[in-house]
Amino acid sequence: MAKSATFSFEAAELATYLGAKNASALEKVFGYTTVGQFLWHFPRRYVEVGELTPISELPFDDHVTVVAQVVNVSQRQMHSRRGFIFEVTVSDELSSDGQELKMTFFNGYQARTDLQVGVIAMFSGKVGWYQDHLQLNQPDYAILDEVAQAEPRPIPIYPASAKMPNKRIRDLMAVLEEEFTAENLPEFLPEKVLKAHSFQRRHMALADRHFPKETKHAYIARQRFAFEEAFMLQLALAERGRQLGTQHAVARPKVVGKLADNFDAQLPFTLTEEQVAVGDQISSDLTQSHPMHRLLQGEVGSGKTVVALRAILQVIDAGGQAALLAPTEVLASQHYASIKKMLGPLAEPGLFGEGEGTVVALLTGSAKTAHRRETRLGIASGKTGLIIGTHALLGDQVQFADLGLVVVDEQHRFGVEQRDALRAKAGDALPHTLVMTATPIPRTVAMTVFGDLETSTIKRLPAGRAPIQTHIVPMQLTGFRSRLFSRMTEEVSKGHQVYVVCPRISDSTAEQGVLLATYEDSAGQTMSVEAMKELLDGMPEFVAVRIEALHSQMDAAEKQSIMDSFARGDIDVLVSTTVIEVGVDVHNATLMVIMDAERFGISQLHQLRGRVGRGGLPGTCLMTTWLDADHPSVGRLKTIESTTDGFELAEADLAERKEGNILGVQQSGSKSSLRELSIIKDRALIEQARADVVNLTEEANWGKTYPQLLSVAGNWVDDSTKEYLNKN
Ligand code: ADP
Ligand code: MG
Repeated sequence: MAKSATFSFEAAELATYLGAKNASALEKVFGYTTVGQFLWHFPRRYVEVGELTPISELPFDDHVTVVAQVVNVSQRQMHSRRGFIFEVTVSDELSSDGQELKMTFFNGYQARTDLQVGVIAMFSGKVGWYQDHLQLNQPDYAILDEVAQAEPRPIPIYPASAKMPNKRIRDLMAVLEEEFTAENLPEFLPEKVLKAHSFQRRHMALADRHFPKETKHAYIARQRFAFEEAFMLQLALAERGRQLGTQHAVARPKVVGKLADNFDAQLPFTLTEEQVAVGDQISSDLTQSHPMHRLLQGEVGSGKTVVALRAILQVIDAGGQAALLAPTEVLASQHYASIKKMLGPLAEPGLFGEGEGTVVALLTGSAKTAHRRETRLGIASGKTGLIIGTHALLGDQVQFADLGLVVVDEQHRFGVEQRDALRAKAGDALPHTLVMTATPIPRTVAMTVFGDLETSTIKRLPAGRAPIQTHIVPMQLTGFRSRLFSRMTEEVSKGHQVYVVCPRISDSTAEQGVLLATYEDSAGQTMSVEAMKELLDGMPEFVAVRIEALHSQMDAAEKQSIMDSFARGDIDVLVSTTVIEVGVDVHNATLMVIMDAERFGISQLHQLRGRVGRGGLPGTCLMTTWLDADHPSVGRLKTIESTTDGFELAEADLAERKEGNILGVQQSGSKSSLRELSIIKDRALIEQARADVVNLTEEANWGKTYPQLLSVAGNWVDDSTKEYLNKN
């Protein structure tokens, strides 16, 4: 935050108020240098002594919070799989009979560092039974440095560490509390907004957040600061919207009786209602003379491509060019082939003057130089109406005659920078942009929550498409393991095809030897493409099965030829890395096996399973894992198992991340990082803030009426955030 006179307290160096020693400790542990950064170091929660449970009175199968001292620690290796168990024994003062409680942390690296003998901490978790004693599994904990005394007030529990324990943070905050005045912490939200929501003024809310008389006061204060963040971000977005409104794009209204109409007339299927509705929406966006920014979200296989193609043809009919950007060469080539096929004669330009078809071209990095040059000429001259390609399209040498529309397929695989590079090729007027995805990236979800991204959704699959069945396969259980392989041969014997995706390409030779000795021995090892292929090749039941491997280290021609023969049905089982993640469209493939699925992210898994069940045959996705059912990573797999809604999955993905990362902003004390606001949980608050901002900015001269707000708003969102908000 910029140092302005009114915010001199927050901008002051910590040493001024807390002394050099404390200041340097806070900087070392948290990276804080200013008072403001430290003030926004909020308690994670509060404990009231009444909530504590003595160890001697632990209930079974219930959630408890205990304050206790570590008396013993130990560690043991897991036998059946990778990982270790860190075990902590604690005792508390509330239980006079010296009763102890055990806790276990699976792969508890952090716990091992934090919980050394003698440390006092607050633990909370669910009481379970193990062998002959009660224990807590993976409890949450906060390190304290004194046993909580019978205090009348709730104890704030801060993010803390051994070097900067909770007590010291409280003491330092108490020193600052004397300075929590209206002068030091000036209010900037408009009075009527505060009133409408019954929020405290800033300095009072801050005191309630750190030192509440009752826990509920802290939560009301928390709402205030969360709202403040939402409000300021909405204000920044409103300003950005105002600027965008002034950007220019060439209007590309629908022309009757040309390519777009001819295409509709020759479609081999009927568009679904949603495809038609979204198409109409896009068509009217393209008619505007400011740039369209639209996200087209739709289940894998929901038919987004044909929607995009209709928009592309509208733009070409209106005299512009369109670019379709795909994340991989395989996908670009596939789009090229299927679009040429769908267009048929419409992709064959007639004699000059007839204006029947348009030229569709493919530009990828691996094309021959001469061919690339020719393709680029077609683009520059305007002869080519639709150019399909990978990031090779972004190169400097590619010049468009009149780029009117950029379609980005599978948005999650692209950096926003790459998209901007293409947009920059349109000259003064910006091209319209349509971004397609089955799994929006977290930032997109955030922008949608903020109400700042136009989104169209296709929820229903085209008729005759069966939804995909997804199952977790626990590899520790022999029965499941053998069933996995028999499911594969069953599909093959029905004449269907199978994908097997592995998290890596190869293993070291030594490892591979062990892995292949017997499959049992591979327990807990990450499966590789090469090892899996060898394994299947060596299994008697796969003797007649045609198996090939595919991965990114092969050269483009080899990859293409393997993909082609899989598409022709000449390969039964394709063992690969995630190169097949997006777009690949082989209708006869019905089974997707994902090995060590916990190694993949939510959106990757969702994309991968979308590769099967595309041709009217029902699809199945099997995700294998060696992890225990209660491992946190298996929770993620369960989410995938339970829903096929891409937006729901993106939200789950978002909820897993730290809020601060969502806006792509470093947490380094910048005011605009989200400290209190949760994009998922505070959705209602965000909508409220948006409405308030709309009301406010509709007032004439609001800046003059609320000078304080205006001056804070200018600085609140820092440059990196501004840049980030602008990338869409
Ligand atoms: P995605 O949304 O995953 O990109 P695609 O656009 O690749 O999906 O469409 C999947 C398949 O469904 C394609 O083969 C496409 O031709 C077909 N398709 C699209 N729309 C319809 C429809 N309305 N009826 C029948 N099939 C359709
Ligand atoms: Mg697609």
